[in-house]
Amino acid sequence: MTASSTALALPGQPHIAYQGSELMVEGVRLSDLARTHGTPLFVYSKAAMLSALAAYQRGFAGRQAQICYAMKANSSLAVLQVFANAGCGFDIVSAGELARVLAAGGDPAKVIFSGVGKTRAEMKQALKVGIGCFNVESEAELDVLSDVAASMGLKAPVSLRVNPNVDPKTHPYISTGLKGNKFGIAHEDALRAYRHAASLPGLKVVGIDCHIGSQITEMTPYLDAMDRVLDLVADIEAAGIAIHHIDFGGGLGINYNGDTPPEADALWAQLLAKLDARGYGQRQLMIEPGRSLVGNAGVCLTEVLYLKPGEQKNFCIVDAAMNDLPRPAMYQAFHQIVPVSAKTGDGVVYDIVGPVCESGDWIGRDRQLVVQAGDTLAVLSAGAYCMSMSSNYNTRGRAAEVLVDGTKTHLIRQRESAFDTFALEQLVD
Ligand SMILES: *Cc1c(COP(=O)(O)O)cnc(C)c1O
Repeated sequence: MTASSTALALPGQPHIAYQGSELMVEGVRLSDLARTHGTPLFVYSKAAMLSALAAYQRGFAGRQAQICYAMKANSSLAVLQVFANAGCGFDIVSAGELARVLAAGGDPAKVIFSGVGKTRAEMKQALKVGIGCFNVESEAELDVLSDVAASMGLKAPVSLRVNPNVDPKTHPYISTGLKGNKFGIAHEDALRAYRHAASLPGLKVVGIDCHIGSQITEMTPYLDAMDRVLDLVADIEAAGIAIHHIDFGGGLGINYNGDTPPEADALWAQLLAKLDARGYGQRQLMIEPGRSLVGNAGVCLTEVLYLKPGEQKNFCIVDAAMNDLPRPAMYQAFHQIVPVSAKTGDGVVYDIVGPVCESGDWIGRDRQLVVQAGDTLAVLSAGAYCMSMSSNYNTRGRAAEVLVDGTKTHLIRQRESAFDTFALEQLVD
């Protein structure tokens, strides 16, 4: 990493850039944030979130479309507040996420509830606050939801998640639209499931949805899935069941390491052309993007604790670990790692590892860095599926989080203390 005297934006991250040798998020120096708040520290750019959202909004200009942020990507209240204030709805997967939406001031009418394992209690809570739609993932779930809604004197708005059986060409753990996945209802069973839904007293069919995977970097799987879903819409409507909205899920990838996903507006130009050609362009549309709205809006700052040279490997031991940044351990995922204050020199190749007692606790492998103990590194593309997947493994308190807005910074989550991690536990007499 060489420092230049002018602003040098990182790939895919225009709001995170070097000014001289100092890495900035918008107008704030990351080295200052690390000094003030300590490490590990997540830092998010509000402008980056809003500009990622704007690409979708441009893509849907003139259409009836609702963007429902898939909040499992990053469910911090202030992040939800940014999206709620910008008009977004939310795609939730638990009653806990619903509670977060309400606490952040989100509109329950714009909430859609996905997931294969909704409990009766969760259904009840969602019905009570009047969510927009349940995205149902099995025929058995239809019966239970109808039962719960009828017992409350309500009709639950439902969409069926259909499985278009297209390969999103992504990591197997984040591919969800293939036949062998636990998600959704098989294409060939969908019409029967819709007839079943339409016959149940506690349900009102309102839509259809699909979600084929995550970190998708090509347009073709989306175009193929759309064709398959529209074929089903035609069949279902021919059977006399009206489909009010069509929800194409999320899954658009981001640039982690030279990945070249389409821009959201370019992707939707192609998808809308197909919708228009097939006569569905004026329908109510919904999408559920997660990663592409927040992934490149965040970094995780971590301090170098020790350099440990070895015969086969040099280790750079940092204070962030797999409990803070689980993606490398879970999916062998790649995050760029750069110094917050760039130094010149040749550098040494290190494996960047955390303090957790697992060999799987690595953040990056074979990275050339000019570093010494006490330096601060920034793990990039850490806005999605990092803090929201974090844990207290090894009794490590979760990191603090800061939201940057221009030159202003807001501490949006305090660092957890050791006490916080065992506050709900009890000794026995
Ligand atoms: C996770 C998920 C999303 C969001 O996926 P991203 O890859 O983060 O865009 C959308 N819809 C459903 C049903 C999901 O489970």
